[in-house]
Amino acid sequence: MIIARTLEDLKIAREALGEVNFVPTMGALHEGHLTLVRAAREAGRPVAVSIFVNPTQFGPKEDLSRYPRDEAGDLAKLEQAGCALVWLPRVDTMYPPHASTTVHVTNVTARWEGATRPGHFDGVATVVAKLFGQIRPKAAFFGEKDWQQVQVVRRMVADLHLPVDIVPVPTVREADGLARSSRNAYLSEAERKAAPALYAALTEAVKAILAGKEVAATLHKVRQDLAAAGMTPDYVALVHAHSLEPLAGFKAPARLIAAAKLGTVRLLDNLAVSSQL
Ligand code: AMP
Repeated sequence: MIIARTLEDLKIAREALGEVNFVPTMGALHEGHLTLVRAAREAGRPVAVSIFVNPTQFGPKEDLSRYPRDEAGDLAKLEQAGCALVWLPRVDTMYPPHASTTVHVTNVTARWEGATRPGHFDGVATVVAKLFGQIRPKAAFFGEKDWQQVQVVRRMVADLHLPVDIVPVPTVREADGLARSSRNAYLSEAERKAAPALYAALTEAVKAILAGKEVAATLHKVRQDLAAAGMTPDYVALVHAHSLEPLAGFKAPARLIAAAKLGTVRLLDNLAVSSQL
């Protein structure tokens, strides 16, 4: 496994490997990330993984300074998963002082994570565009856990005619349904026990919507269930799966998306509203 820390190292690695598939991450790797790596490998090219805790996608009051970091552990997991190249850029490589370009995607960023976290998707789109320029992958793999993020990246790639295929990968969960996330490490024992209520409430709601229950009443019930589990919902919404526009009534392709605070941790989850759950 090649470890590149400078653009010069990266160029040499790219020339040695030829075409690659790519998995961007912020490290603190778990089974969700490793599933993306395996999917990228199975797609038939050597896999490049980036580990970069991107400061521009964190708000001023967010958890940048306490975001979990474990470089040695991450490298061991990637080696084990058969990764060919790890890209570990420094902040000043990604954002040199003279850098003057931000990628701003409109429409699909207007609501939900975009509204709750102003500037977040500018940070995501900008860093992903830079990483694509550095790695030049044939295909890039993103987790459906961050559903809106996948739609934002797809929009950017289409709008900028970037020569990369975006491949979404289904959410990897714990046995009790909780979506795997680096931030789960912040949950106290009691919070960890309460956390699966988010997936449970969304699963029930998908069944209710498919059974014809009114959407507004169903979303209200999800909020009640989350509150009963000690969570404070940021949003719970039925949306068009690609535009992220809210739907007053069920019409495919639809996605049920939610974010809720549990103690200091913000949990995020979403499900397809389809009978293939
Ligand atoms: P992050 O390190 O949180 O920026 O995530 C890096 C990539 O892993 C993103 O494409 C995430 O959507 C994806 N990812 C994170 N958690 C999961 C999960 N539980 N299942 C599938 N993909 C995930």
